[in-house]
Amino acid sequence: MNFNEDNDPGRRAFLRLVGLAGAAVALPPLLAACATDPVTGRKTLVGLTEEQEVSLDRQQSPQQFSADYGACQDERLNRYVDDVGAGLWRRSHRPNLPYSARALNANHVNAYTFPGGSIAATRGILIELQSEDELAGLLGHEIGHVNARHAAEQAGKSMLVQGGVVLASVAASGSQQYQPVVQLAGQIGSSALLAKYSRDNEREADALGMEYMARAGYNPDGMANLMALLQSEARAKPGLLETMFASHPMSDERYQTAVQRARSQYASQRSRPLQRQRYLDNTADLRRLKPVVTALQEGEGLLARNQAAQAETPFGRALGLAPGDYAANVLMAKAKLAQKKAREAEPYLAQARAVYPSEGQALQLSGVTKLALNQADAALQFFDAYERRLPGNPNTTFLRAVAYDHMQDRKQAADLYYRYARAVSGGQEAQYAVSRLREWGYVK
Ligand SMILES: [Zn+2]
Repeated sequence: MNFNEDNDPGRRAFLRLVGLAGAAVALPPLLAACATDPVTGRKTLVGLTEEQEVSLDRQQSPQQFSADYGACQDERLNRYVDDVGAGLWRRSHRPNLPYSARALNANHVNAYTFPGGSIAATRGILIELQSEDELAGLLGHEIGHVNARHAAEQAGKSMLVQGGVVLASVAASGSQQYQPVVQLAGQIGSSALLAKYSRDNEREADALGMEYMARAGYNPDGMANLMALLQSEARAKPGLLETMFASHPMSDERYQTAVQRARSQYASQRSRPLQRQRYLDNTADLRRLKPVVTALQEGEGLLARNQAAQAETPFGRALGLAPGDYAANVLMAKAKLAQKKAREAEPYLAQARAVYPSEGQALQLSGVTKLALNQADAALQFFDAYERRLPGNPNTTFLRAVAYDHMQDRKQAADLYYRYARAVSGGQEAQYAVSRLREWGYVK
């Protein structure tokens, strides 16, 4: 069951897909550019021009949203999150970026942004918030990162595509049969494409977030309440907030600063009533799903600890409550695949594709399942469908190469292995691709 314990090298040939739809996306070569910091007015050296920020956002955000099970199919909720965001970004230092905000189907607690202003909050965090002011604090913080150009600052460091970003990997062996198996350890909150901010970045985003929410008419206590909530959640369920705190380092100092700032700089706005009822009304359908989200969180925790068989119980409970829940179906399929039960994964993936046809992750996972069942041509159709929906993911190039390899179509496989090796910078899969090209005499 835990195939990490499987030491037989012949059986270690597998496709290890962590995070699946998470992606490495090749970027144009970056030049350091001197730009005016929109917040401070100072000239600073940033790794990305504004055009590059927007282009990176367009390439990467759809892949990350898919890794987080896509936007919730709750139109009212998405419109509401976007409206609250719009009230803030219109009053920010960079009001003209192509901002958008949505709720995601992911169950862990997180919120993030890409540098062009594509912002997301998981349903795991949205079911915990108690007022619109807290939501404004959350979105304001992300808009703060965008305005202070923190991702651009990080470019050249963590935002660049690296071997570690590549999520589909193959452990090569002497065997000619490449049995794909899905490795799910560390699955929660695959965050390969997210910027990792410094503590200084966090302080600046907090300050900007409170400034924008106050300008938009909110009570600044919303920000302090949000931080208190996150800290108490982290104490109660440490694993759930790991991803959030990895990209947005949290500290008691951040909370204390927010409290002090609200009491001093924004004291006059503290008499504004907190918008509780409006938040509860707009999130009513989501909050009805709380037992589903909680069960899925429990199952994901088990999956992350390689207890896939045990994870089936909470996933089954979630499906009993919400048979048409996209994330629940995909997660049950992952639990089956982690136990090498590819055939049992298929009905859950079929259901996931039926309830959310435009979402990519179920397509990619369906392709991987077909590879596991030695149906390479069927796998290829799923990878092609994924490519049409979410183009430019090098993982798809790699998976298509493996499918052609299975089909003994050496020419197509070699072409794709070559393109993959050029698109990423290192990693196990790139080594594997190069080793195949070498075996076939394409490279020396
Ligand atoms: Zn942050």
